[in-house]
Amino acid sequence: MNIVVCIKQVPDTTEIKIDPVKNTLIRDGVPSIMNPDDKGGLELALRMKDSYGANVTVITMGPPQAELILREAMAMGADRAILLTDRKFAGADTLATSYALAGAMKTMDYDLIIAGRQAIDGDTAQVGPEMAEHLDIPQVSYVVNAERLENGNLLVKKESEESVQTLEVEGKCVLTVLASAFNARYMTVSGIVEAYDKEVEIWGADKIEVDETKLGLKGSPTKVFKSFPKSLKAPGEVHEVSEEEAVELIVNKLKEKHII
Ligand SMILES: Cc1cc2nc3c(=O)[nH]c(=O)nc-3n(C[C@H](O)[C@H](O)[C@H](O)COP(=O)(O)OP(=O)(O)OC[C@H]3O[C@@H](n4cnc5c(N)ncnc54)[C@H](O)[C@@H]3O)c2cc1C
Repeated sequence: MNIVVCIKQVPDTTEIKIDPVKNTLIRDGVPSIMNPDDKGGLELALRMKDSYGANVTVITMGPPQAELILREAMAMGADRAILLTDRKFAGADTLATSYALAGAMKTMDYDLIIAGRQAIDGDTAQVGPEMAEHLDIPQVSYVVNAERLENGNLLVKKESEESVQTLEVEGKCVLTVLASAFNARYMTVSGIVEAYDKEVEIWGADKIEVDETKLGLKGSPTKVFKSFPKSLKAPGEVHEVSEEEAVELIVNKLKEKHII
């Protein structure tokens, strides 16, 4: 079984700072980590490897320094690592990112693709499902468990706020995984040593099956008009008044703000 896990390097913060001029994330001085949901995805792949035997490949699209999370993934137990990096990928929105990743998958021999549900910086949760569409294969999102059945199909459990569903999936598919469901293993000392002995394959746009006009900024239909962090709201006012007084108070406030 060949499993490919998509991992993204993200800033280690939930307090995203935005450059007000360029409308891009300020990454300077913020340490980078493997996106938490992707760590969950890798853990699922490694559990499948432990149970049924599998070859686990990790792939990321990003700048050269993203190699670090690939080495971390190998130290956790991944067998192969691919860094998709090329100026042609720069400025990609989610559609162009998923298109490039899908282009890489087309050149690979895979049975299952695992991605995180969501990246903590971009936060769109679009890349996994879009990749499945580019590849024209089924997808299951919000996955909390998956196991292989005797007939070779996957039994996949997905969880949302309202429901839990169990699905049987036949053939190749994309799963997007929740970090909360998988307690990811730590790197081992021998794993770290081995990870630095192994090669990280560097792939450019010429190595994958893509139409280059659909890559990077050129291939991105999304244009960022303005980005800004949410401003803190002023504390509310508390008034202990009767119902009639409350109505009058609210009406006066709305008039003050020219809302009514
Ligand atoms: C117009 C525009 C321009 C942009 N320009 C840039 C830019 O110049 N530089 C920049 O860094 N970002 C840029 N971005 C952000 C970039 O598009 C997103 O970071 C990227 O598409 C992933 O989206 P997301 O973070 O919402 O991932 P999600 O869809 O939330 O991620 C879901 C899962 O998909 C997988 N995944 C996502 N991204 C990758 C990846 N790169 N490699 C491997 N797996 C992945 C992971 O498994 C992840 O858990 C731009 C966005 C827009 C809209």
